Amino acid sequence: MPSLLVFKQENVYNRDMKEKYDLIIIGAGPAGLSAGLYGARAGLSCAVVEKAAVGGLATTTADIENYPGVKRTDGFSLCYAMMEQCTGAGAETVFSEAVGVDRTDGGFLVRLANGTSPSCKRVIITAGASPKKLNVDGEEKFTGRGVSYCATCDGAFFRGKTVAVIGGGNTAVEDALYLEKLAAKVYLVHRRDALRADRVLDERLKASAVTPIWNSVVHSIDGQDKVAQIALKDVKTEALNTVSVDGIFVAIGQSPNSEIFKDLKTDEYGYILTDEDMRTSVDGILCAGDIRHKSLRQVITACADGAIAASTAARDLL
Ligand code: NAP
Repeated sequence: MPSLLVFKQENVYNRDMKEKYDLIIIGAGPAGLSAGLYGARAGLSCAVVEKAAVGGLATTTADIENYPGVKRTDGFSLCYAMMEQCTGAGAETVFSEAVGVDRTDGGFLVRLANGTSPSCKRVIITAGASPKKLNVDGEEKFTGRGVSYCATCDGAFFRGKTVAVIGGGNTAVEDALYLEKLAAKVYLVHRRDALRADRVLDERLKASAVTPIWNSVVHSIDGQDKVAQIALKDVKTEALNTVSVDGIFVAIGQSPNSEIFKDLKTDEYGYILTDEDMRTSVDGILCAGDIRHKSLRQVITACADGAIAASTAARDLL
């Protein structure tokens, strides 16, 4: 398995940016890498700007079985392949955080945390989404000391231990099934008595050793130096119940990383509104992937959005 360190040694990420591009793509998840691939192949000079690691949230998925043509893979491997294809087509990738986008006469300046502000004619925002927090007592204090938002990143620390996964969607069930292979005991805590997750995952969960705790929410997370227990509240009876755990994996959905794009129209949750060509409410700024208002957030729909956004930019410019 290739590592991000190898990426850096190969100097793929740390190329110096040019001052001008046709297209700057903000975020190197599946949407951004697909936009880079399509933009570069259309003949646009493209840079994909990434603040952290390639792949975004998709890299936190241990098993991907619904990306057509790839029977089974993990998020990191799939995104690594996308990254190689994107840069192989000629898109540049740059590690820095985009902190703002300013309009100029001919297009935009993208302000980066590294102090540079490259210009471009079109921007595609593919900044994705971040895991939501529970906002309960103890969550902040124990983050990194038993509270995690990424089972594939932190699961190995809980080998042979007891953990609870919170949530009832695809992420929570996938996380619980992944952790079941490592931990001695896995609870799945959900606020209702039916999962939101796909049926295939529901069936796998039923066939697993994961213990569901239905109709319950986390009231608080407690311990000394690290997590020792969680207090759960039964949503029907309001009774509090304590469960001893070494770790808690929060998988209750995501919020869009759209704070810096305040001028764009969004829905009530902050997801950016686009038309079917991925145009936002600001002329010249497009948007793709999980940060966009849409009904299905999957790797395949992120890739499709990215391809459409880059093709729209190419149609405008060529
Ligand atoms: P999600 O589908 O939004 O599910 C969030 C879950 O957390 C829901 O079960 C929700 O309960 C629960 N929840 C929300 N807020 C809560 C709170 N404050 N306290 C307790 N529980 C809370 O999020 P996700 O599972 O992260 O998935 C996000 C998107 O990625 C979805 O579109 C999903 O299909 C996609 N995804 C796909 C795959 C795949 O296809 N392999 C894998 C991972 C994610 P309710 O059900 O009661 O609302």
